Amino acid sequence: MPEAGRGLSYPFAEPPAPGVPFAVAPGIEWLRVPLPFALNHINLWLIKDGPDVTIVDCGIVDAPTRALWQSLFDGPLTGRRVSKVIVTHCHPDHIGNAAWLCDRFGVLLHIAQAEYLTAHAAADQRGGHTDQAALDLFLAHGLDPELLDGMRDARGGGYRRLVPELPARYHRIEAGGTVQIDGEPWELLGGQGHAPEHILLHRRSDRVLISGDMVLPRISTNVSVHALQPDADPLGEFLHSIDTYRTLHPATLVLPSHGLPFYGLHHRIDELAAHHAERLAELWDACAQPRTAAELMPVLFRRPLDGHQIWFAMGETLAHLNRLVVVGRLRQIGMRFVRVEADSQ
Ligand SMILES: [Zn+2]
Repeated sequence: MPEAGRGLSYPFAEPPAPGVPFAVAPGIEWLRVPLPFALNHINLWLIKDGPDVTIVDCGIVDAPTRALWQSLFDGPLTGRRVSKVIVTHCHPDHIGNAAWLCDRFGVLLHIAQAEYLTAHAAADQRGGHTDQAALDLFLAHGLDPELLDGMRDARGGGYRRLVPELPARYHRIEAGGTVQIDGEPWELLGGQGHAPEHILLHRRSDRVLISGDMVLPRISTNVSVHALQPDADPLGEFLHSIDTYRTLHPATLVLPSHGLPFYGLHHRIDELAAHHAERLAELWDACAQPRTAAELMPVLFRRPLDGHQIWFAMGETLAHLNRLVVVGRLRQIGMRFVRVEADSQ
């Protein structure tokens, strides 16, 4: 990870206690929810909507998260209805409790179409969404077959374990549209590269951005090639997406899904662009001899990786290699990546 987030300012030095809503902007409360992973928390958002509340993102389905929601409905949210459940994208920590919350309050999940469909495909292990398809992709890129058992064990049931149910219907939202909350229009922005159709929410009147996983203050967003689209360029998509957020006011308060709320959106976009440019240069340097993605993974990930981390590391390495292929600096011959010599002076 780069030394990140230095030029940012954090209006709240500490996160609130788990499950205790904390006001961060007019009508917006921050709900910090623990996660049982290396990434040990997610930030959810509660937005006042008249007498009701709109929920943005839901946490995974496990006993502690359900207990936390229940304690909110029995405590600070007693007597309040949920007017909408909005989910930024299909990853389990964001969509997990969506079906349960929507059923409980009789509301439709608000989510982008590709996110809704991808959630179902991942939960049902359809098409290229199976774990085996991902492992086959990694094997085709030179991954040591001996690592597979550890990777399967780390997966332990995958998506369905964290998202046991999904809503059978939804309300489609999309980039360029708006959602009304408490009589105010929130503009919906799009993000690609991390998930197929990630939605960010922007309240222009007082410059608040719910950035989901697209702009995080300290860690770089996971950007991976997936089995169903092996020649995709998710890093190119991601860099393009974050570049479009430069149109937002520099003094925007960013509410990210992980880490602390911050000011310094434009600085963070610069930092992320520089970070990936550096990683691309390192990978290209390492391709003086033809190399497989598996051989190149330690260039980007220098520390030892556990079974869980290898999933992300292989996907991220492929994302950087595909970017170099798309811009014409590398080409793939068999399972090896080779420099395009015209560019190699
Ligand atoms: Zn995510």
